[in-house]
Amino acid sequence: MGDHFQTIVDLDTSPHEAPRLAERVVEWLVVEGIVLAERTDCVLGQPLGHPPGRNWQRAVSPEDADRDPWDGLAVYTRRTVFDSGQGGPEAVSCPRCGVTTRLTSDEWDLIDDAWAPFSKAMDAWHETGAAQVDCPACAESVPLTAWTWTDDYFAFGHLGFEFWNWPEFTPAFRARISELLDGHRTAYVWGKL
Ligand SMILES: [Zn+2]
Repeated sequence: MGDHFQTIVDLDTSPHEAPRLAERVVEWLVVEGIVLAERTDCVLGQPLGHPPGRNWQRAVSPEDADRDPWDGLAVYTRRTVFDSGQGGPEAVSCPRCGVTTRLTSDEWDLIDDAWAPFSKAMDAWHETGAAQVDCPACAESVPLTAWTWTDDYFAFGHLGFEFWNWPEFTPAFRARISELLDGHRTAYVWGKL
């Protein structure tokens, strides 16, 4: 069985604010007993993470409460391109004109012409924190971070909470995290390796 993850990404936080907000959320998770304060080797992609706490069920729906999470929470507080791992970005929608552009074929191969400008912009965003992509439909230059990805395949941000091998979170839990992030917009990236 592969490993899967759920990541709640803060789309609005500045690099400056990220560590403070991360601390606030982890503190709340620890007080609730959802994760432990200590950090151990319990996550992928980072050396250390917070293992599940005794009340981890509070984050998931009652019908999943017998499916123990078997790994922990990795917190990212630097500029990161979060993606869903396996599969590919199916499509992306322009926030200006609403037109959706397909990025993968029916065989799940990337469509090179459509994908290239986004791939280039992601590299630029990773380097500098800013990038634009011209919409193939309306020709407007749109910030990379403003595009809407099918199934939240990608999210770009400076703060992410990545939970490894947990049952699916409830909308209420995700909303609570968003509240703790000063009501920032969040993305919910789900994927597996
Ligand atoms: Zn457009």
